[in-house]
Amino acid sequence: MTVHFPFQNSYSALPDSFFARVAPTPVAAPRLIKLNRPLAVQLGLDPDVLETPEGAEILAGKTVPAGADPIAMAYAGHQFGQFVPQLGDGRAVLLGEVIDKDGIRRDIQLKGSGPTPFSRRGDGRAALGPVLREYIVSEAMFALGIPTTRSLAAVVTGEHVIRETALPGAVLTRVASSHIRVGTFQFFAVRRDTDAIRRLADHVIARHYPELLGAERPYHALLGGVVARQADLVARWLLVGFIHGVMNTDNSSISGETIDYGPCAFMDAYNPAQVFSSIDEMGRYAYANQPRIALWNLTRLAECLLPLFSDDQEKAVADAQDILGAFSETFSDAYQAGLRKKVGLFTERDGDDALIQDLLDAMAKNQADFTLTFRKLGDAAGDPAADDARAQFMDPAAFDEWARRWHERTALEPQSAAERQAAMHAVNPIFIPRNHRIEAVIQAAVNDDNYAPFEELVKVLAKPFDDQPDYAAYADPPLPDQRVLQTFCGT
Ligand code: AMP
Ligand code: MG
Repeated sequence: MTVHFPFQNSYSALPDSFFARVAPTPVAAPRLIKLNRPLAVQLGLDPDVLETPEGAEILAGKTVPAGADPIAMAYAGHQFGQFVPQLGDGRAVLLGEVIDKDGIRRDIQLKGSGPTPFSRRGDGRAALGPVLREYIVSEAMFALGIPTTRSLAAVVTGEHVIRETALPGAVLTRVASSHIRVGTFQFFAVRRDTDAIRRLADHVIARHYPELLGAERPYHALLGGVVARQADLVARWLLVGFIHGVMNTDNSSISGETIDYGPCAFMDAYNPAQVFSSIDEMGRYAYANQPRIALWNLTRLAECLLPLFSDDQEKAVADAQDILGAFSETFSDAYQAGLRKKVGLFTERDGDDALIQDLLDAMAKNQADFTLTFRKLGDAAGDPAADDARAQFMDPAAFDEWARRWHERTALEPQSAAERQAAMHAVNPIFIPRNHRIEAVIQAAVNDDNYAPFEELVKVLAKPFDDQPDYAAYADPPLPDQRVLQTFCGT
């Protein structure tokens, strides 16, 4: 049996300035620790063959499969507001693209596969902990219905990487609808290479926004499309309590997928100012700042596209401002509609936004668990005697007062208690990848070579909306001594 990847590469056919051709660097003793079998099937790959030693060698970058055209992509980016004219894939290699079972073109990338011309001082490698973290969180996001890159496999390399200490090395096989970022456009904009910007924009339209192909002003429409998808994406993040942690422009995907899971985290207690990332000292990427930052990143994208808009600079800027102006409303509409669903409202009435805001304010003041408050509110919708939502509040009376108004409001709608509960449970997960669970999984893997906790967590998170009584403890917030206060990139 040989491993067959049905590659149909398009990015590597773009001009040489878009990437560096570079093969992954072979590793000592690859061992497959996780294969995402359903995703393999979705990509037209044979999971049984990928699980053979030959498959593991490919997923570790030791062997390059037939038809691959490995490249490291060039990009630039604003990191915490500071522009860096050249970043690029410093520890990742794009093997190639396949067309999946739904006809969607998907990148297959090895992350942690060795140095590239973009590595600067980095070793091009990844440690096991961050690889497991990205695997867990990206697949959890997918199960939550949020656009995201996926994880096809994790392998350990049999080598150590040196961070603060020596850690087991690993490679993640990441799947994305593409790895084109805001920073990819910036790479060419800072070099004033307008032809390349046009080539890239045309590639992106054909690949991610084919509905715009015949548009009268395709590049304007492209910016509008990215604005709409990013606004929707950030609304979805907020609705599940997700904090990306490092929303640099190089980590902002043009396709509208969540990409680059580093110090990301889900919050336990609701706190709009929550920050976990150890390097986000100013709280630039705090939970509630994410919409503002997404718009800031989109503004950087708009700047790159100006030369395609018009030769008249003033007109180009005015057009861009117009298009960016849609972000706020698109975001608010998606966010407010999502919140209405979370509290079980089927219709829209004056006063709803205030009702919901009052709940969020009370949650913040009472350190209520974000996920459990909404989930248990669904139980209360089905059975008014269910009081687990109330139990999330330090001062349960704060909930009682709000709940009275909420019951009055829901009584104005014809849906039955059971219907409301079902609708709420369909949007309010019970299981999220809580930081303390991820940490425990990583410790077991790194210290004891024990992957059973990882397997179990991944399994539970694949069905985040289903009550899974055997795994009920996975819904629990951390005990005080289990609380994770900071997360790290681990690069
Ligand atoms: P990230 O923080 O993962 O978004 O990465 C930012 C930049 O640093 C990208 O250009 C990465 O390719 C590069 N980078 C991160 N870790 C490493 C590493 N271990 N070796 C080389 N480059 C790296
Ligand atoms: Mg990145």
